[in-house]
Amino acid sequence: MKCRKCSGKLEVHRMCRRVRMRCTVCGQEYRIHEVASDLDKETEEILERYTTIIYD
Ligand SMILES: [Zn+2]
Repeated sequence: MKCRKCSGKLEVHRMCRRVRMRCTVCGQEYRIHEVASDLDKETEEILERYTTIIYD
């Protein structure tokens, strides 16, 4: 997945009970629902491990 601002790579970033997608280049964070339409297979598989986490 790519950042909408700088096209840097997004990584899954876990914070306690929440998960964000964070850009490794500019540090921009996205809520999961904000980027849900752009989720790729790799990211979906990572998120599936966090089924108990609240996606706020
Ligand atoms: Zn970025």
